[in-house]
Amino acid sequence: MKSVIFIAPPAAGKGSQSIKLEKIGYTHISAGDLLREEVLRKTALGLEIEKIIAKGNLVDDDKVHELIKNKLLNTKKPFILDGYPRTIYQAHLLEDLFNELNISQYEVIYLDVTLEEALKRALGRLSCSCGASYNIYNEDMKPKKAGYCDKCGKELIKRTDDNEESFKVRFETFKENSQPIIDFYKNKNKLHIVSAMESSEKIADRIKEILND
Ligand code: AMP
Repeated sequence: MKSVIFIAPPAAGKGSQSIKLEKIGYTHISAGDLLREEVLRKTALGLEIEKIIAKGNLVDDDKVHELIKNKLLNTKKPFILDGYPRTIYQAHLLEDLFNELNISQYEVIYLDVTLEEALKRALGRLSCSCGASYNIYNEDMKPKKAGYCDKCGKELIKRTDDNEESFKVRFETFKENSQPIIDFYKNKNKLHIVSAMESSEKIADRIKEILND
């Protein structure tokens, strides 16, 4: 199975699709999760980036790359890169790293979703520290008891940046930065566009087809 890079606006479903791929042996590397861990652990980097993340702005390229590099060096293939690269500079840094590590078996999947749909998904999104995720606006993804995890019973958490103001900044930032990244991978014949407006199962089937090709 090939590794995968997800390029997608916030709340397009990268996280949910990554969970499905993890079940078939993929290692999930999420730039956002790595950054949030730094914030929770109150490291020097975490303290520096907390406000940047809450506002929906991007963290410094080289700092995110350092986290991704350390993770990739200790990760078995196949892996999922979720939320990285987010700028063309990051795409070039990643390309150099892939060359260094001899990584060529990968595909890039662009999950295409409208602003309205992504906003709805972001505002309804809840997660649990055990890793489970929910959405109150999706009948299939609602927790059985409102506000609590079906799997472990803990109280569900809403991300601080899943509010309308921060979401719109994140969506705009994505639109501004993504075109050169898309062109970069299109030129390398790695790019696949998948509609993220379909059901989660249909999207997952399409992704598996691409990765098994
Ligand atoms: P995500 O969990 O992918 O939605 O990312 C949450 C937040 O982490 C983003 O809104 C950014 O503030 C930051 N972030 C995640 N990935 C990157 C990246 N590749 N480059 C810069 N900042 C990032």
